[in-house]
Amino acid sequence: MRPIHKVVILGGGTAGWMSAALISKVLGRQVAIELVESDEIGIIGVGEATIPPIQQVNAVLGIDEADFLRETKATIKLAIRFENWGQIGESYYHTFGTAGRNLGFCSFHHFWTRAQKLGIPGSYWDFDLNYLCAKSNKFAPTNGNDPIWDLPYAYHFDSGLYGQFLRRYAENLGVVRTEGKVADVQRAASNGDIMALVLEDGRVVAGDLFIDCSGGRGVLIQQHLGTGFEDWGHWLPCDRAMAVPSARFESTLPFTRSIAHGAGWQWRIPLQHRNGNGLVYSSQHYSDEQAADILLGNLDSPALDAPKIIPFRTGRVRQQWNCNVVAVGLSSGFLEPLESTSIYLIQSAITRLLHLFPHAGITSELVAEYNRQSQLEMELVRDFIILHYHANQRQDSTFWRDLRHMDVPDRLARKIALFRHNGALVQDQYDIFMEPSWVQVMMGQGIMPEDYHPIADGPSDDELRTQLAQLAELKARPLSQLPAHDRYIDMQVARRS
Ligand SMILES: Cc1cc2nc3c(=O)[nH]c(=O)nc-3n(C[C@H](O)[C@H](O)[C@H](O)COP(=O)(O)OP(=O)(O)OC[C@H]3O[C@@H](n4cnc5c(N)ncnc54)[C@H](O)[C@@H]3O)c2cc1C
Repeated sequence: MRPIHKVVILGGGTAGWMSAALISKVLGRQVAIELVESDEIGIIGVGEATIPPIQQVNAVLGIDEADFLRETKATIKLAIRFENWGQIGESYYHTFGTAGRNLGFCSFHHFWTRAQKLGIPGSYWDFDLNYLCAKSNKFAPTNGNDPIWDLPYAYHFDSGLYGQFLRRYAENLGVVRTEGKVADVQRAASNGDIMALVLEDGRVVAGDLFIDCSGGRGVLIQQHLGTGFEDWGHWLPCDRAMAVPSARFESTLPFTRSIAHGAGWQWRIPLQHRNGNGLVYSSQHYSDEQAADILLGNLDSPALDAPKIIPFRTGRVRQQWNCNVVAVGLSSGFLEPLESTSIYLIQSAITRLLHLFPHAGITSELVAEYNRQSQLEMELVRDFIILHYHANQRQDSTFWRDLRHMDVPDRLARKIALFRHNGALVQDQYDIFMEPSWVQVMMGQGIMPEDYHPIADGPSDDELRTQLAQLAELKARPLSQLPAHDRYIDMQVARRS
């Protein structure tokens, strides 16, 4: 066992700089950190939508929100609006909020299901403050004393600016950046560990623990260690993306739009200075020319650049930690950005590594535990994304019909059956997505519970009607006090920390 005195990070994309910033902040001078990256290779340059745990990164790093919004040209994200995912013309929101009130043993959707059966009108989302704010384009943190007014949010940001922001932060903490292209590695004969990176010009960067943030290339984890890849393309057939920035709209929406097309879907991400757009599609069903026609034909504002094609492979490396190499970011695997989970998976990987940090040396137990948690977490995200594709009701293409009829992973099949039967959901350990997320996507795409929990039969019909009306009024109460989303951004950006 070799103690870990020096960590070497290969790659300077979001994964590399987030790793550098978090590890240097948490471990301080206990480890030296050197980051190697190549400007010539560059970064992937997409990845603009996040989920609320990103706020924990800012909190740990001590980043002020106003600085963050200003430096990364960020906007607020309260939800994703899924359009045409159930039937064409329909839409629903997957918000970060919780509908109704948390009633402990029995979730709100059971009461709402009973109300539906009684013919009491009202959408499930009318009880969700995130939805109400998203719909009316309003935002400010609510900081309510009552959790009923919680308004969880994340950000949309410019990925290039975010990387530079993290880089400045990490370099200030003493992380050393080395420019250069890795051409080879030196490995220990005894156990196969990587001892050093060898750059094209012959320089050698030695270390004890290596974090592979080299993107889809997986330079250390795949090219040198040959770890192997588990392909999930049979469940998630999209294998290409096309991205293009477009001009800013008049007013920016506090949510991402995800618009399903014949064989894929399109994202629209509003930033302060422009919009991020892209089409995720299956190359079996669309040529790149067709994809470009769909993407460019569905922009709300003029394109600012030529579209960029990004091929990808869906799945995960068989061991995210192998020998003394931990793969973080795209090198560890990829799931399409439908639920904006990749940056979160970077954060989660680093947090896990910090929890299990092998300061006295790497043991097989540490590696096994890290890999067990990473695998489970990624499979649960995968299942959630499959749910969106599988639970479609579209009749317009073989793409959607095949996905509706495919066999899904057992764990997901059980979840759907359970929910359909009586609205029950089981929270898996390491699942990023909590019950409100699963409920919204299931019901948003037409999986409705046939029954509900008997506790929901507690109030009489009239009591239920009254309680729901009061709850809807209560939920919406902060709305009149909140500024427009753009106004909030302007106020924050103008504020000096
Ligand atoms: C189409 C698409 C849309 C996405 N949208 C989202 C989203 O909305 N939300 C989200 O959370 N995630 C999203 N992602 C994922 C997100 O972009 C990535 O998780 C994130 O950018 C991290 O990338 P990375 O740092 O792993 O890789 P990269 O950005 O590719 O960085 C790789 C780094 O490794 C370096 N490198 C590679 N090889 C060598 C070498 N031999 N020598 C030296 N340096 C080398 C490169 O120079 C670069 O610095 C999206 C991904 C795709 C493909």
